[in-house]
Amino acid sequence: MGAIARKRGSFGSAQLLDGGDCAQTLIAADTLADVHQPVRTCIGCRTRAAKAGLLRIAWQDGVVVDASQTAPGRGAYLHRRAECLQTAIKRRAVGRALRVSTVDPTAVAAVVGAYLPQMVEK
Ligand SMILES: [Zn+2]
Repeated sequence: MGAIARKRGSFGSAQLLDGGDCAQTLIAADTLADVHQPVRTCIGCRTRAAKAGLLRIAWQDGVVVDASQTAPGRGAYLHRRAECLQTAIKRRAVGRALRVSTVDPTAVAAVVGAYLPQMVEK
């Protein structure tokens, strides 16, 4: 861990590899769940990772970090990496993922940054 893995070109049209027995009728954007281990896409680097290894971000009148991953409503997932956080902010991915148009990037950086091992100031 700790090494920054740059993965490119591995996402695209063929993400649903093992959705054979998907009995899910839930949210369309969240249908990538693996039967064995829940997998989510990091909104920063866009690679998939085990849900348990990601930070869940939710919206409760503002961006919050859902440490227990159980808060109701939409959630966005992010690696615990400053690089992913900054990419997500740059891309406005947080607002898009949470379907909120009033996301304050400064607040996101502060709130989420507090949960990161090391926050890189740029
Ligand atoms: Zn990431």
